[in-house]
Amino acid sequence: MKLIARFLKYVTFDTQSDENSHATPSSSGQRVFAEYLKSELELLGLEDITLDEHAYLYATLPANSDKEIPVIGFIAHLDTSPDMTGKNVSPCLVSNYDGKDIILCREEGIVLSPSEFPELLNHIGEDLIVTNGKSLLGADDKAGIAEIISAMEYLKAHPNIEHGKIHIAFTPDEEIGEGARKLDVEKFGCQWAYTIDGGEVGELEYENFNAASAKLTFRGRNIHPGQAKGKMINALLIANRFIGLLPSEERPECTEGYEGFYHLAGIKGDVEESILTYIIRDHHRDKFNARKEEMERLTSIINSEFGAGTANLELRDQYYNMRERIEPVMHVVTVAFAAMEAVGVSPNVKPIRGGTDGAQLSFKGLPCPNIFTGGFNFHGRYEFIPVQSMKKAMDVIVKIVEIVNHERNTIYKKTLGFGS
Ligand SMILES: [Zn+2]
Repeated sequence: MKLIARFLKYVTFDTQSDENSHATPSSSGQRVFAEYLKSELELLGLEDITLDEHAYLYATLPANSDKEIPVIGFIAHLDTSPDMTGKNVSPCLVSNYDGKDIILCREEGIVLSPSEFPELLNHIGEDLIVTNGKSLLGADDKAGIAEIISAMEYLKAHPNIEHGKIHIAFTPDEEIGEGARKLDVEKFGCQWAYTIDGGEVGELEYENFNAASAKLTFRGRNIHPGQAKGKMINALLIANRFIGLLPSEERPECTEGYEGFYHLAGIKGDVEESILTYIIRDHHRDKFNARKEEMERLTSIINSEFGAGTANLELRDQYYNMRERIEPVMHVVTVAFAAMEAVGVSPNVKPIRGGTDGAQLSFKGLPCPNIFTGGFNFHGRYEFIPVQSMKKAMDVIVKIVEIVNHERNTIYKKTLGFGS
C-alpha cells in the first residue's frame, strides 16, 4: 500500500525541531524533508507547488468541477518533537498483533506492553508500526502528511469523485509552537481547513484552552534578622501568602475535561524580592477572564495587607479557544463528523487541554479543527500507529472532500449565507 510505503520513507528524515533556534525552520532537516515532499508532489501532478524561504510547502489539487464548491485545505507538520531524538528512526511492522508484549529493543529491554498501554488491546489483529526503542516514531505528524498526500493521489486517480479546489500545506516547527505563525492564510486561500495531527482513530478536536501567563513580583524589605522586629518585610512569605489565597483544588493535578486551573510554574526570590510565575487556563472565555480578574483581586489584597506597591501583576494572553471561531461555521465540524461516520469511524470529540496550531490559524481567519492521524504515545519511544487507523484517516480526508461537494448548497445557504 502506497500510504504505508510513504510513511515508512518519511520517518527516515530527521526533522526534530529545535526550541533554542530562532530561525524558521528551526532545523535544516525539515527543509530537506520539505524538498523531498515537493518533488513527490510534482510527480503526483499537483499544481501551484511552492516551498517558501521558511520551509512552508503549499500545493493545490485543482477542482474537477465547474460547480461552486467551498475551497478547503488540509495541513500537517514536518517536524518531530524536541523531547526525543528523531534520528535513525528504524520502524518495525508488527503484523496481525496478538495482544501480547511487543519487544522494541531486546538488548535494552524496552517493551511496549498492554499492561502499561492498554489502548494496544483495541488493535488486536491489526498491523502496528512501532519503533526500535531508540527514537520516537514520528507518526506525529508524518502519518498526517502521508495520509494527506495519499488522499490527494487517490482523488487524482478517481476523477469520478467530483470536488472543488483543495489546498494542502506542510508546516515546520509545530512542536515548538511556531508552525502557524508564518502560514500565509491569504495565500493558502481556503474557506476552512483541517489539521491532520490528532491521536487515536476518531479524534476530532475543535476546542482548546484560553491561555494567559501571569508574573507576580513581590517587594520586601531586608533588615538584619537580629534587628528586624517591626521592620523586615519578607517577600518570600508574601509570595507564600499569595499562593495560599488561590483555590487549592484548581491546579492541573486536580482537574480534567473542561476544568480550568491556575498553575504555579515557577518560584524564585529572596527576602528582598520574590517572583511567582503562573499559567492560567480555561476553555470558557468568561471563566478565563474571571481567573485573570481573580489574580488582580488577590494582588490588591496583598497590597492592602502589606502596603501599596508591594505586589505587581503582569498578565499576558497567550492564545484563545478556537471554539469561538468554529461555532459560527459549525459545518466545518459537522462535515468531519459525517465523514468519519461514513467510513465507519465513531467520532470522539474532546476538548484539548492545551493549545494547537489550528487555534492560531482559526484566529488568523482560517477555521481549522484537528483530525486524528491514528497514532499513540507521541513524542517518545513508545509511539506506535496501526496501519488500519492510517487508512481510516486517509478515507476520512477523501470522504470530507466528497461531502463538501454533496452538501455545497446546504453549506452555502445555511451557514455562509449566500445563494446556491
Ligand atoms: Zn503533531
